[in-house]
Amino acid sequence: MPDVASTTDVQTLDNFIGGRWVSSRTSDYFQVHNPAVGDVIGRTPLSTAVDVDAAVQAATRAFPSWRDTPVNTRVQVLYRFKAALEQNFQELARIVTTEHGKTLDEARGSVRRGIECVEVACGAPSLMQGFGLEDIATGIDCHVVRQPLGVCAAIAPFNFPAMVPMWFLPFAIATGNTFVLKPSEQVPLSQRRMVDLLQQCDLPPGVVNLVNGGRAVVEAICDHPGIRAVSFVGSTTVARQVYQRATHAGKRVQALGGAKNFVIVMPDANLERSIDVITESFYGCAGERCLAGSMLVPVGDVHRETRDRMVAAAKALKVGDGTQPGVTMGPVISATHRERVLGYINQGVSEGAKLLVDGRETRVADRPNGYFVGPTVFDEVSMRMTIGHDEIFGPVASIAPVETLDEAIALMRSHPNANATSIFTSSGKAAREFAKHATASMVGVNIGVAAPMAYFPFGGAKDSFFGDLKAHGRDGIEFYTDKKVTISRWF
Ligand code: NAD
Repeated sequence: MPDVASTTDVQTLDNFIGGRWVSSRTSDYFQVHNPAVGDVIGRTPLSTAVDVDAAVQAATRAFPSWRDTPVNTRVQVLYRFKAALEQNFQELARIVTTEHGKTLDEARGSVRRGIECVEVACGAPSLMQGFGLEDIATGIDCHVVRQPLGVCAAIAPFNFPAMVPMWFLPFAIATGNTFVLKPSEQVPLSQRRMVDLLQQCDLPPGVVNLVNGGRAVVEAICDHPGIRAVSFVGSTTVARQVYQRATHAGKRVQALGGAKNFVIVMPDANLERSIDVITESFYGCAGERCLAGSMLVPVGDVHRETRDRMVAAAKALKVGDGTQPGVTMGPVISATHRERVLGYINQGVSEGAKLLVDGRETRVADRPNGYFVGPTVFDEVSMRMTIGHDEIFGPVASIAPVETLDEAIALMRSHPNANATSIFTSSGKAAREFAKHATASMVGVNIGVAAPMAYFPFGGAKDSFFGDLKAHGRDGIEFYTDKKVTISRWF
């Protein structure tokens, strides 16, 4: 495997439509960077509505025979896909690290989570089953079957290039739908490889299509009358827009938005055993995670110990190129995002938060052009401050001490986002109270990153989620199917 730092090959990506890689009709391109190095490693076509239409037409043509393919035959494609992903596991992780920046260990974890989605979707012959009842009236029976919707589309964010598309694709096609995927223009390389592998698994042409691009593709997906359902993952602003626009066009929509996650530390927490997972929660994937801890809320007199341990843990992280051994935190995604995160740190200082660890000047000697921000810790952060309110999506921990659990819960409840939250405690009563009253839908008890696995629903509440049915698990099956009820009487 070549050292990515020396790779000069800049590839222009294609779209995958009707079983073939084809050029986009656009003349606009987005430059894909290796964020650890700063080099351009690819060009994403910013495709147009015409490209989306071609993909939808291909998916529409493929739908009748794919939905008529027995479910057990459909999932054989996914079994082969799972095997192909396993065989190419290390290569996929390396692509994720190259285009996103997270460490190889983190990339491997994300590919593993993607594969788990494929595994769960292989259970479609059981998961998709309906139900029935005889003699709902004399001689009349009623039964329910789940049927695919038609053409479904998914739009992905930049932060989990291999994983997030798998929250949707395997569930959509296992249940008999055909599919159009739009990866993030910032990280198109993982999905290109994964769709390449899928193509080698006897997937009929048109069942899965991929259109690269940005806003124009998203808007075309929302508006296209041939698309029945849209899944979106990204920031709250765009999630809300996509939800409104696509539901207005009559589609079924699930839109997962941004986050501001509160991590509560009770005085009876076992900090000795917890500090590693707390640190991981804030700084894993350089804080570019919708489940990342953002606000660290120590309750009562555990403030000082929590703060000191967090400071020590942040200072112990090794920032660098995620492909290099020993590196525990990679860069952020882009030069623009680096500026944005630095802007938040500056704002935290100017609004009066106490800066305990300053990541602004972090440099990596052999990667002078990488987009690095060092782990940062603020203390005495209030919700009125910009860093107490906005999603920073970078390696910045804000400590907001409170006196009671009720205050901690109230702090979380006051925020419009409600994706994930965690409590560290040895009290079952406190944990129960917290889980019951948390606004966030993904709750960790002595767990830093409360990520539901592929057989459970994934998604938040309030401004972190727009829709009804969440991603993967049984919700995934429900989202991609319509329940048809047949009532019959035979004379
Ligand atoms: P983003 O909203 O900028 O982009 C997401 C997708 O929308 C991309 O494919 C992008 O091309 C497209 N897009 C961007 N701007 C658009 C616009 N104005 N109109 C239409 N489409 C547009 O998000 P991002 O920066 O790629 O990802 C980070 C965000 O995603 C964070 O807010 C993070 O919390 C969130 N996220 C949420 C979850 C979750 O499960 N809730 C998971 C991962 C990421």
